[in-house]
Amino acid sequence: MSTEEIYELFVEHPIISTDSRQIEKGCIFFALKGENFNGNKYAESAISKGAAYSIIDEEEYNTSENTILVKDVLKALQDLAAFHRKQLAIPILGITGTNGKTTTKELIATVLSKKFKVSFTQGNLNNHIGVPLTLLRMNSETEFGVVEMGANHQGEIAELCQIALPDYGIITNIGQAHLEGFGSFDGVKKTKGELYNYISQKKGVIFYNSDNPLLEELSASIKNKISYGTKDATFTGVPIQSPPFIHVKANFAKGVLYLNSNLIGDFNFENILAAACIANYFGVDPLKIQEAIKKYHPTNNRSQLIKKGDVKIIMDAYNANPTSMSASINSFLSNLSGKNYLILGDMLELGDYSAAEHSKIIDLIPELIAKNTFLVGKEFYKSGKNSALKTFLNVDELYSYLKSNPIKNGNILIKGSRGIRLEKILEIFS
Ligand code: ATP
Ligand code: MG
Repeated sequence: MSTEEIYELFVEHPIISTDSRQIEKGCIFFALKGENFNGNKYAESAISKGAAYSIIDEEEYNTSENTILVKDVLKALQDLAAFHRKQLAIPILGITGTNGKTTTKELIATVLSKKFKVSFTQGNLNNHIGVPLTLLRMNSETEFGVVEMGANHQGEIAELCQIALPDYGIITNIGQAHLEGFGSFDGVKKTKGELYNYISQKKGVIFYNSDNPLLEELSASIKNKISYGTKDATFTGVPIQSPPFIHVKANFAKGVLYLNSNLIGDFNFENILAAACIANYFGVDPLKIQEAIKKYHPTNNRSQLIKKGDVKIIMDAYNANPTSMSASINSFLSNLSGKNYLILGDMLELGDYSAAEHSKIIDLIPELIAKNTFLVGKEFYKSGKNSALKTFLNVDELYSYLKSNPIKNGNILIKGSRGIRLEKILEIFS
C-alpha cells in the first residue's frame, strides 16, 4: 500500500500506536520490530483489542482484511509522518544538542503556548520512531510544532530533518556524549550541525547561543540567525543566582524583566534564555513569557529538588555525560552552602574515552569533599579505587552502605546515567 493510501486511512483514524499493550479504539497499529521483539506477532491481537488496522511487513501475519502489508513498517511510519507534515501548513522548530534538549523543548513549548496552540515531543520521544510519532500527533488545530531530535550516530539529524522538515532550529550545545556511536567529538559536531545545514538550505531561521564558541562557529556561515547570550547577542540576559534556583535577568525591547524559575543548575540559564529568546522572536508578550517560566516545574529526575527532613537532594539522575556531569557538579558546589555530598554514577556509552573521562571527573572533585563523595558503577570503580573517594560497584552496594551509615543532614547531588539506577538511593530517605 502506498503512503498516500495509508494517509487516507490515517485521516479517518488519526491515532497511531506502536505498542500492542496500549491500543486505543480505532487506532492504526504499526507493527515495529526491535532487537528483542517482532511487532508483526501482535498485529492480530491489536485488531482484536480495537485497532482499526495493523500495518505489518511479514506476509505470514497478513491474516485479516484489516492487516496491511508494507515492505518495511518503520519506513512506512516515517513516510506517513513526512507526508502528514507536508499537509500541515505550520512552522516547526527542531531542537537538538548534547544536553538540555528536553528541558529547553519543554520550556519553549510552555512559553509558545501562551500565544499558539503548540504540539510538541512527549517525554523524550526524540529518535527515528519518536519524531514520526510526534508529527503524527499534530493536526489541523496545531499552530506550532516543537520537535526534539536526538542522535547517537552521524547522519541521524539529517534523516530526522527529512521527516520533520523544520523551518526553525536550535542546537542547545555541543558536548561529549555517545562518543561510542559518533566516533569522535568532531563527529558529534558534524551531526548536530546537520540541523543548521538543513534549516539554512531551506532559508529558515536558526537560534544559537553566542556565548558558545562552537555554536558561533557552526552558525558563522548561516545568514538567517538569531543569537542569545550574556552580551553581543540579538537577545541578551544574565543569570541571577537564587540558590538553589537559577533566574534570568532578560532584556526585552521594552525593558528588563526578571524571569524566575524553579530550575536548579547553572546550565539551566542558557535553557531559559533560549526559550525566552524564541518566544520573544515569535511575538509572545514578555509578561506571559515570565509567567510561563515561573510556572514550569521539571519532571523525571531532571535537576529536581527533593527535600527529605534535613536533607536536600538535587536529583539529576536522568542521564549523564562528561559535559552535563561537570556542569552539575560545578553548579552544585558553587551554589549550595552547608555540608555537601556527591553521589555520582557512571557515564555510559563513552567507548574508548570512558576511563579518561571518568578520571577527569574525579580530578574535578575538591579534596575537601572527597570523603563525602560516593562513586557508583564499574567505570568509576576502576578510575577511583585508588583515590580518597568511596567507590561502589553498583547502586545496591551503595544502598547497603548508606543504610548502615546514613546521611542525616546536608545537600546531596545525585547524578549519573540512567542505567546506574541511582534513583534507588531515594528509597533510603523516604
Ligand atoms: P537526552 O539526550 O536524554 O534526550 P536531553 O538533551 O534532552 O537528554 P535533558 O533531559 O533536558 O537533556 O537534561 C538532562 C540533563 O542534562 C539535566 O538533568 C542536566 O544535568 C543536564 N543539562 C541540561 N541542560 C544542560 C545544559 N544547557 N548544559 C549542560 N548540561 C545540561
Ligand atoms: Mg531528551
